[in-house]
Amino acid sequence: MPPPDHDPVRDDDADSLEEGEAEDAAALETEADVTCPHCGETMTITLDPGGGRAQEYVEDCQVCCRPWRVRLWYDATGAADVQLLPVE
Ligand SMILES: [Zn+2]
Repeated sequence: MPPPDHDPVRDDDADSLEEGEAEDAAALETEADVTCPHCGETMTITLDPGGGRAQEYVEDCQVCCRPWRVRLWYDATGAADVQLLPVE
């Protein structure tokens, strides 16, 4: 006689964030327009969505070659929020 099938109720699996947003994982931005904190040039940098929804790394300016610390967040819609801090 098989044990009673009591599947645990999986309420924690509910998509709490899904309120009209389309599939969020698919729409992460892969580019962002930034302004170099050293030389003031505006340029487009390439983002790596595979690194996670919050990232921090160092990258060199394409114009003046000085390093920035890049802070990157993806919001619920997949839009990238990028902040550059100068690294001396
Ligand atoms: Zn620069």
